[in-house]
Amino acid sequence: MQQTIVEDIIKKVMDQMGETPAEKAAASCDAAIPVELSGRHVHLCEEDIKELFGGPLTHVKELSQPGQYLCKERVRLIGPSGVIDNVAVLGPARPKSQVELSLTDARILGIKAPVRQSGDVAGTPGVVLTSGSGLAGLEEGVIVAARHIHMSPGDAARFGVSDNQKVDVHMDGSRPAVFKDVIVRVNKDFRLAMHIDFDEANSCGLGKNARGRIVGVTQEA
Ligand SMILES: [Zn+2]
Repeated sequence: MQQTIVEDIIKKVMDQMGETPAEKAAASCDAAIPVELSGRHVHLCEEDIKELFGGPLTHVKELSQPGQYLCKERVRLIGPSGVIDNVAVLGPARPKSQVELSLTDARILGIKAPVRQSGDVAGTPGVVLTSGSGLAGLEEGVIVAARHIHMSPGDAARFGVSDNQKVDVHMDGSRPAVFKDVIVRVNKDFRLAMHIDFDEANSCGLGKNARGRIVGVTQEA
């Protein structure tokens, strides 16, 4: 009889305490988020594409986010203290050119690149891009992309998170770690994927088919 009372009370207290949506998501087996590593790459505006290559970009391969693709063209980045060759160009053209590097890459070039969301390039440092045949000088646009998760509205509802919210993500690597300030980006055209750079991937020993799990909220939207 006594035990039944204790069990009942514990059950009621546990029910009242509840779980946050993120905890529920983490507890469910659907919680795993595929992690994709973003290597250094550039997005180019129409004008810079013309300066560098003379004609339109050449589509090679679709990327995970619908409409985004890898191009055949490559560029060299020239900074104050170093050069990086064979940098990927992603299409389609964007209104402003943007260079996305890891902090290690930025150090090699001698550029103090800030961590920013893609597209937020106002006041960032510039760099020089060259191809075999052309050259484009960017006054600004060099960033270290803020780690983020692309998801559909359905995924956002499932995880109990919203657009621009910053979440904590446990990384299931050989050196497990929790990344904070991971920006949730919700769009009906997005496919579920977390994007981090190679510095971040190496820091937690991530391999192929890496997964992350939302375990908390760093900051509300
Ligand atoms: Zn992304």
